[in-house]
Amino acid sequence: MASETPAIRLGPVTVYLGEKSGKYPDGNQVTVRGADALAAFDTPLVANRLGAELLEADLVVLGHMHEDHSAGLHRLPRAELHVHEADVEAARSWEGLARHYGYRPAVLPGMRAKIEKDFCYVPRPDARAYRDGATWELGGGVTVRALHMPGHTSGHCVLLVEPGGIAFIGDIDLSSFGPYYGDGTSSLADWRRTLAAVKEVPAKVWITSHHKGVITERETFVTLLQAFAARLDAREAAIVAYLRDKPSTLEQLVAHRFVYPPQFNDLYYEDAEVRTIGQHLEELAAAGRAVEEGGRWRMRQGAGGR
Ligand SMILES: [Zn+2]
Repeated sequence: MASETPAIRLGPVTVYLGEKSGKYPDGNQVTVRGADALAAFDTPLVANRLGAELLEADLVVLGHMHEDHSAGLHRLPRAELHVHEADVEAARSWEGLARHYGYRPAVLPGMRAKIEKDFCYVPRPDARAYRDGATWELGGGVTVRALHMPGHTSGHCVLLVEPGGIAFIGDIDLSSFGPYYGDGTSSLADWRRTLAAVKEVPAKVWITSHHKGVITERETFVTLLQAFAARLDAREAAIVAYLRDKPSTLEQLVAHRFVYPPQFNDLYYEDAEVRTIGQHLEELAAAGRAVEEGGRWRMRQGAGGR
């Protein structure tokens, strides 16, 4: 039975668009067909609405492990599952995923119940680890190569398909939200390197997991990437401005919110704020721009004038 899900075909690649073009909690499902094998990149919620075009997949390559990228794995129990070595434990067990999130113990049972209910979460002890540069030959000259681009998670990868130079860039999603680095294995420093490195990937087409979908012009990609990276600098600038005005504890900064609007709530928002703001404070301290005294953060005199 043909799927009702809108799809975009790009040579060996098909992109099945999730609801609202893959806005979270949904995502865009990518499949790659070679002469010998069918591969799926991630399995977002939309995977639950697909038929044979997904269920015939011989292998699934996760660009990274998060609940919204693994919501269809339960439908593919026999497909080989490949996950970067830094994210693989998060795919293998709940304990691994809990460490990956890095949230407070009080939050974790609720998080597990939520992802089981909303994202059909199942652990995959059979997940195999891959490394930067890993390649998969799908037959007929179709290949997939993993490029390690951490930051969002420590194992986040771009998956580059040839022929065609089609790059699945996952949660380098170019959204107006900006980069996410609120989990235990997320890293602001890695994001800064990744935002520079992803521009150098020899691609002609870019596919995001969420929202933007398929981008076919380098100029558009670079413009969106700059705006996306600017969100990270805007968060830093907001924290700097706040501290200039009012030296504050981390708890006070978290209560103010610098990532999520204060009128919204989810189980993990507070933990993500702690982790995100904490990394900016560490970075500002390392640069000599901010200092902590007795639990209170303030900007140094004359420092950080941007
Ligand atoms: Zn993610």
